[in-house]
Amino acid sequence: MLRLTEVKLPLDHPQEAIEMAILKKLQITAADLIGYKIFKRSYDARKKGEITLVYILDVETTKEKQLCDRFKKDPHISITPDMSYRLVAKAPSHYTTRPIVIGTGPCGMFAGLLLAQMGFRPILLERGKAVRDRTVDTFAFWKNKENLNPESNAQFGEGGAGTFSDGKLYSQVKDPQHYGRKVLTELVNAGASPEILYINKPHIGTFKLVGIVQSIRATIESLGGEIRFQSRVEDIDIENGQVRGVKLASGEYIASNHIVLAVGHSSRDTFRMLFERGVYIEAKPFSIGFRVEHPQPIIDVARFGEKAGHKLLGAADYKLVHHCQNGRSVYSFCMCPGGLVVAAASEPGRLVTNGMSQYSRNERNANSAIVVGITPDDYPGHPLAGIDFQRRLEERAFELGGSNYYAPGQLIGDFLANRSSTALGTVHPSYAPGVHLSDLSQSLPDYAIAAIREALPAFDQKIKGFAMNDAILTGVETRTSSPIRIKRQENYQSLNTQGLYPAGEGAGYAGGILSAGIDGIKVAEAVALNILQPNN
Ligand SMILES: Cc1cc2nc3c(=O)[nH]c(=O)nc-3n(C[C@H](O)[C@H](O)[C@H](O)COP(=O)(O)OP(=O)(O)OC[C@H]3O[C@@H](n4cnc5c(N)ncnc54)[C@H](O)[C@@H]3O)c2cc1C
Repeated sequence: MLRLTEVKLPLDHPQEAIEMAILKKLQITAADLIGYKIFKRSYDARKKGEITLVYILDVETTKEKQLCDRFKKDPHISITPDMSYRLVAKAPSHYTTRPIVIGTGPCGMFAGLLLAQMGFRPILLERGKAVRDRTVDTFAFWKNKENLNPESNAQFGEGGAGTFSDGKLYSQVKDPQHYGRKVLTELVNAGASPEILYINKPHIGTFKLVGIVQSIRATIESLGGEIRFQSRVEDIDIENGQVRGVKLASGEYIASNHIVLAVGHSSRDTFRMLFERGVYIEAKPFSIGFRVEHPQPIIDVARFGEKAGHKLLGAADYKLVHHCQNGRSVYSFCMCPGGLVVAAASEPGRLVTNGMSQYSRNERNANSAIVVGITPDDYPGHPLAGIDFQRRLEERAFELGGSNYYAPGQLIGDFLANRSSTALGTVHPSYAPGVHLSDLSQSLPDYAIAAIREALPAFDQKIKGFAMNDAILTGVETRTSSPIRIKRQENYQSLNTQGLYPAGEGAGYAGGILSAGIDGIKVAEAVALNILQPNN
């Protein structure tokens, strides 16, 4: 197969145009073309009047050898690389000790799946409930019918933090081994649309994710793995620097010398327990800010002009960054086109926002987090000081919202003019249970408020209408990434605790669904190789 990159065609091109472009580029006739597959489709919308689709194509021809020679200097024609995934190990039939995976977010789920595929029959422990029961609890909380359940919510339960999300599946991590392809392929095997394999910036949408998570669980179980819900790991047994097992909240003890720690960024009690047990942890930077909501058509028109609403473009997204005079950077994060702002709290009396979308992305508002980067210099001292810092902000947001899980909200016009909001304008906030209009300048440190006030008008220069009076801010976003890093060595084990494999977002090694899945695969490989060759 030959891979052709940078094949550009107009947005509304007919299907045959792809074949024509291949023939022209390779200077061959239709008789020489056996077939082709779209490896990737993206768009270039830099010129709004002239949006183009950009393809990477894998082409099968009768003249592969000659074409390779003829185009050997063309950077856009090469042999298609082999991106298939091969298991690195196979558990011997006599092998009985079972690795443990703590957490069933994307990292734990993929670590568990890979260990199961290699025959290691892992035990996955999840503090929350199975995804259907978890959905009932979380939606009841959002509809104000039930109180927050600290063990079953947007953060905790089968599928992890990304289950009620837009399901965006892209990442900026370097991936020379093509693990991302393995993650996407397994998601397709579990029921995701095959288009996630070829469209640029694919997403799954929250309802589809629920079924996919169940299907991956079924695969793990069919391979001899075990998944236990409502099984919170409360303590970890470490003997002379080697992990020996875990104790569950129920009191049960499970022995294992190989434990993957994939607990996400919100398992604050677990972080404290690990710290008290002497596992090496350090503070790391993260970001704080608000969710912003605009009418989606404003974003679509700003990005796509008269092509707004085109079916191949879908609801538009954006990515914005502004470097402020006070030295801070403000950027948009986790943008959810046509989505909803959601209550992502996991601790009573504390409030956090986040965003999600359905596959269709057809809700009226676009939302994203507008956040300011902060570093341990902003919360000096203890390795866990970032968690205390997050908690203070989340408590303040809870109070400002009226102490009933309503989010404090403010119109952008009022925020910029430094006055409380008293009435909504044309933009209706989507956050449920509800929004309590307030003065958000009281919810974050002054440097963050100053930075966001400077950034919003700057963003308006890039997306006309971004700083519109009626756009609504809700607060607070505090869990953009983990406030700690549980450092590991090259062999993926904790810096000072043998057999403990800190992984995924909570340990500071991933920042989204795809990168967490990739990290899960890497760690599963490390566990398998270490079991088979303990001295490596
Ligand atoms: C509302 C929302 C929307 C998001 N949208 C996107 C998106 O569109 N795209 C994207 O890439 N990212 C998104 N993210 C971020 C993404 O979900 C995370 O980066 C990802 O889930 C991290 O994966 P993880 O497996 O490392 O941790 P998590 O997904 O957080 O999973 C950790 C799991 O461990 C369990 N656990 C914790 N402690 C224990 C314990 N002591 N014992 C047993 N189990 C435990 C938890 O219950 C949880 O299920 C979103 C996050 C949220 C909250």
